[in-house]
Amino acid sequence: MSDLEVDVAVVGAGLVGASFVRALAGAALKVVLVEPAPPPEAGPQWDSRIYAISPASAAFLEAVGAWAALDRSRVQPVLRMEIRGDAPDAALSFSAYEAGVAELAHIVESGRLQRALWEGLAGQPNVAVHCPARGAVLGIGTDAATLVLDGGTRIRARLVVGADGAASWVRGAARIDAAVQSYGQRGVVANFACERAHRGTAFQFFRPDGVLAYLPLPDRRMSMVWSTPDAHANELLALGPDALCARVAEAGRHALGALELLTPPAAFPLQMLAAERATDRRVALIGDAAHVVHPLAGQGVNLGFGDAHALAEALAGREPFRDCGDPAVLRRYARSRAEAVAAMRTVTDGLHHLFGAKSATISAIRNAGLNFTDRVPVLKTLLVRQALG
Ligand SMILES: Cc1cc2nc3c(=O)[nH]c(=O)nc-3n(C[C@H](O)[C@H](O)[C@H](O)COP(=O)(O)OP(=O)(O)OC[C@H]3O[C@@H](n4cnc5c(N)ncnc54)[C@H](O)[C@@H]3O)c2cc1C
Repeated sequence: MSDLEVDVAVVGAGLVGASFVRALAGAALKVVLVEPAPPPEAGPQWDSRIYAISPASAAFLEAVGAWAALDRSRVQPVLRMEIRGDAPDAALSFSAYEAGVAELAHIVESGRLQRALWEGLAGQPNVAVHCPARGAVLGIGTDAATLVLDGGTRIRARLVVGADGAASWVRGAARIDAAVQSYGQRGVVANFACERAHRGTAFQFFRPDGVLAYLPLPDRRMSMVWSTPDAHANELLALGPDALCARVAEAGRHALGALELLTPPAAFPLQMLAAERATDRRVALIGDAAHVVHPLAGQGVNLGFGDAHALAEALAGREPFRDCGDPAVLRRYARSRAEAVAAMRTVTDGLHHLFGAKSATISAIRNAGLNFTDRVPVLKTLLVRQALG
């Protein structure tokens, strides 16, 4: 058993935890990062877990030095977005050109982004990575918190940051309650080669059986995220490759022609989670540990990067006499994130319920809403600006 004394102990080195630690590179803070497993080695196969990274998140990742480390031949800019309702003529489209920006988002593989974040950690003299290790005991005192790892290492930290995902151990150990609501859905993901070029277009189909997204990957490839009720998700997972390709192509109105399966499908349970508060005495939560939203807007990890950025700024901007777990510093972080998180939760949950409703009246209203929005440039620009972060 050994004792360590640090300023910040970060539990969880997923995308959000690792990006937060990278953002502390120049800070005069001693940091430990605790994670049970390093990211997998990147192979030639395409990762079926991909993210639509907003321009604001890309700028943050660039500032922390991870963006430049990505292999550009595996990053796809999204130039256009096509949204289709569940009536044949209901459609809404956005383009980067109309919005006056270079791209609406970038599609990036999860594993490669995580590797890019991890690789830079070795060059940070103020950071010690404990991996494989996990938080096992947390004690909160007046001047510091004590974190005990499963191997027995004791860490005294001014601040413990929970970046340990939706089932956050830190959140539980700090006795921060969370409202959790299952959507009764899973996100089924898989990658496909497609017959037609996507030209940087992301498609989203609001269907009676959920929301199907086609996200463009470099060349003639696309990544599917189909948020759909559990029973339908099981049915999709049980299909053979040819039957799955035919089902996905048909559900996407053959927008990219015939499909060929590149990676076997996988499924993730979908839930909404809201921690009662993002901070407590000597504790701050970031990323999915603090909030989980429906993936239909592809904004979960973007919200997490926003948290990482805001908490790093609150720590860097504190008065020199304040320690980094000072309540005033934590309040500044919590206040700066409250609005963005609540707004995203309302939008994603609202869209999920609006498009999940079976009533014919609501169906007519939502489809008319898509067409109306498509014809009002001001409204479209507003929506695009929101999505760009
Ligand atoms: C189907 C699907 C599609 C999605 N698509 C998008 C998208 O396009 N764009 C987007 O922005 N978001 C998307 N999301 C959301 C996104 O996946 C999450 O918001 C994001 O992965 C959260 O990252 P995180 O680092 O907070 O948590 P996680 O990725 O869960 O990382 C938590 C880390 O903590 C570690 N850990 C856990 N317990 C402990 C412990 N006791 N001690 C130490 N470490 C611990 C874990 O090993 C892990 O590395 C999607 C989600 C789903 C389900």
